[in-house]
Amino acid sequence: MNTTLIFATNNRHKVQEIRKIASNNFDIITLKEAGIFIDIPEPHDTLEANAVEKAKTIHLLTGKNCFSEDTGLEVDALNGAPGVKSARYAGDGGNFQENIDKLLLNLAGRSDRSARFRTVICLILDEQQYLFEGECSGQITTSQHGLEGFGYDPVFIPDGSDKTFAEMGIDEKNIYSHRRKATDRLIAFLNKMPGA
Ligand code: IMP
Repeated sequence: MNTTLIFATNNRHKVQEIRKIASNNFDIITLKEAGIFIDIPEPHDTLEANAVEKAKTIHLLTGKNCFSEDTGLEVDALNGAPGVKSARYAGDGGNFQENIDKLLLNLAGRSDRSARFRTVICLILDEQQYLFEGECSGQITTSQHGLEGFGYDPVFIPDGSDKTFAEMGIDEKNIYSHRRKATDRLIAFLNKMPGA
């Protein structure tokens, strides 16, 4: 029988992406399905600490097995910004379009457009905590392309493709994505657990 985990996020895109990867390996309960309606805090300055905070918050509320993830876009020419502040790059409102506008403005005229998404997953299983990481390297475009996905997807081309994430469906994004790589590591771990 699959392990059941509450996914500590209110981001429906993240749920869709991870459900597609996890389908045969573990079952995801969303916060909504678990009857939890809170904004989960992300107060720390590392992805790891934020991922732990999110998972612990939901574990304290429910006492159930759960996982969270925190993701940042690290741009080399901006010394790793927006990084852990990716959601709030243009201000506390967390508006995707304003974040993209600020990123493109800050990179205007720059030839080095290399960047990477980094995802850290925190799993709390049987009161123990585990971390898994995934990265996806690529390039920031000079203008937006595509309407799929969320966040910085319209301005990020992963290495190995000539399309932005926003020009791909979920299955194609999952071939390259940081989130898929971190989720693969989570699945490999769950499959090694006794009784799996
Ligand atoms: P969070 O703090 O993990 O929710 O993510 C921070 C921000 O990074 C989000 O608000 C998005 O703008 C961006 N982000 C996270 N994952 C992705 C992705 O897969 N594609 C594009 N942007 C992303």
